Amino acid sequence: MAALSITPSLLEPGLWRSDPSLERYQVQGGGSIVVRLQAGDTITIHDPQGRQVGEVIAFDKNGSPAPGGLGNHPVQKPTGLGSILTNRGLNTRPLAQRLSALGITLDDALAIPVFAPDSPPGEEVAFTASDELTCLICAPGDSMSVEEQHPPTPLIVWVRRSDLQGDTDPVLPDPLANPRLDFRIERCTARDFTVRAGEFIQIIDVAGRECSDFLAFTESKLNQGIERGLDPTATRTLMGAAYPGPGLFSKFFDQDMQPLVEVIQDTCGRHDTFGFACSSKYYEDMGYFGHPNCSDNLSNVLKDYGVAARRGWPAINFFYNTRIDDHNALYLDEPWSRPGDYVLLRALDDLVCASSACPDDTSAANGWNPTDIHVRVYSPDNIFSKAVAYRMTPDAEAELTRETGFHPRSSQLTRNFTEYRGFWLPTVFNNAGAIKEYWACREKA
Ligand SMILES: [Zn+2]
Repeated sequence: MAALSITPSLLEPGLWRSDPSLERYQVQGGGSIVVRLQAGDTITIHDPQGRQVGEVIAFDKNGSPAPGGLGNHPVQKPTGLGSILTNRGLNTRPLAQRLSALGITLDDALAIPVFAPDSPPGEEVAFTASDELTCLICAPGDSMSVEEQHPPTPLIVWVRRSDLQGDTDPVLPDPLANPRLDFRIERCTARDFTVRAGEFIQIIDVAGRECSDFLAFTESKLNQGIERGLDPTATRTLMGAAYPGPGLFSKFFDQDMQPLVEVIQDTCGRHDTFGFACSSKYYEDMGYFGHPNCSDNLSNVLKDYGVAARRGWPAINFFYNTRIDDHNALYLDEPWSRPGDYVLLRALDDLVCASSACPDDTSAANGWNPTDIHVRVYSPDNIFSKAVAYRMTPDAEAELTRETGFHPRSSQLTRNFTEYRGFWLPTVFNNAGAIKEYWACREKA
């Protein structure tokens, strides 16, 4: 008789990152990125399409220029970066804010030029940091005129970390603006926070494939002892969808059918509004007594606001990948979210909020590996474009929805826009009729 194997074997483990010490960034043509390096880290810059000049500008930890920190290379004035910062067609405010937050001024900066206007596709250059550095890497270039043949193209930057110092979490994406609140929700916990009407809430999946259950209540009503919070059924009814997304049907409502938050950006696109946040019963039914759960975690952080505890919260379960299939089964699978994917919400009232980092390690809900969630809150005076994000290929950078060249005119004719292949397209010109719509596109736009 064959001996029975008693060693437990995990047949289908979660898909971990292949190499936590290797990071990949894309510098968009005409754009720039900021990366922080430790001594011994290596950066490799790759020009996949060729003929894209680049600049690498290094600063030490005090914000002073330190081109020698990457080795002895010829340097020049950072004219390319200068042209990016003065390009009025680009939104350079986040870059300028990031540089000022790091204490960096560009007055004495020196750039290491990389690649040439005639360099072949696939060329690479590599540098090793000899000290702690902040590096700006840019791929300068102006918008191409129609008769030209050389648009600015992306550069790919690989960073090989020499020492992870125990930190295997992916690097957080840059803040979208200066955040008013910027905090971590440790794995398997929840946090409360309050926002004012008009503020923006960014919920970031730090390592990817991690659910974050979200609750929000109108603060003024809580103060009167009336509990009115996000209601998935009211939301689905009014939005005509399983959950709202950026664009025309974008708001989450409470039981009184009052909108509480609006979805401004969503880089994941798959969430859940059908199930409860995970509860003690969910784990107990599977035999895991005493397992941490989102519902109790959310009840605990909200008790000081006069919110009564519930055994199961009908939360908005961001990044939770569920669907009702053709056989009416509510199934779940690993989340679609990748490291750094986020949802950006705008508060439509003063709200008491709570978010969780789901502790479910018993199902595919968090890719079998619960991780952290990060939350940032931005002031109402910021302007963020409404957008979803698509990747054209599995390894492409996610791109947010853009406005077409016709948008300044077509947006004056209608407010009905839908997302189509990465662009906001008008769906109807206020029923002016096919002929008028045709001429609106043809001549007036
Ligand atoms: Zn949970």
